[in-house]
Amino acid sequence: MDDFLYLMIELVAFAIIGAAVYLICRNKRARSAVGINLKPPKICPNCSEALPFFRFPKSFKQALVGGWTCSRCHSEIDKWGTITKRINL
Ligand SMILES: [Zn+2]
Repeated sequence: MDDFLYLMIELVAFAIIGAAVYLICRNKRARSAVGINLKPPKICPNCSEALPFFRFPKSFKQALVGGWTCSRCHSEIDKWGTITKRINL
């Protein structure tokens, strides 16, 4: 009877780990604020200015979920390289 109990605990543990892996991978594909981008953008999509390798967050949101403020055109870019606040030159 104890073996059956341990087997059920293992099955539940694997199901929880599998669900967590699935959610992280799904978020990465959906480009949500939760996902991790291992290939950050190199240039500003608005003015092509090079983005710094080490970023200093300009707002609370950038500190929390990542992103840049371009030093040249002051547009805000999220960690996926999408412009979230475009400033026209
Ligand atoms: Zn820019």
